[in-house]
Amino acid sequence: MEKRASRRDELINKQAGKPGLRGKINAKCVECIYDPYQSGTWRKQIENCTAPACPLYEVRPTSEGS
Ligand code: SF4
Repeated sequence: MEKRASRRDELINKQAGKPGLRGKINAKCVECIYDPYQSGTWRKQIENCTAPACPLYEVRPTSEGS
């Protein structure tokens, strides 16, 4: 598997495997937007999401935590 894809998949699996909805939401946002080869942590990249119409926008993970 390509390295970029495998790093993303590892993070998605880790987040999705957490109990409760928090990790599942995080995993969905990572799947949607995170690129390990771009600058910024996965949280920072998701914080910078520019799709306020997305139903997950208000609950997306940010660099502040959660
Ligand atoms: S909030 Fe942004 S990063 Fe998360 S799923 Fe929606 S569009 Fe994707």
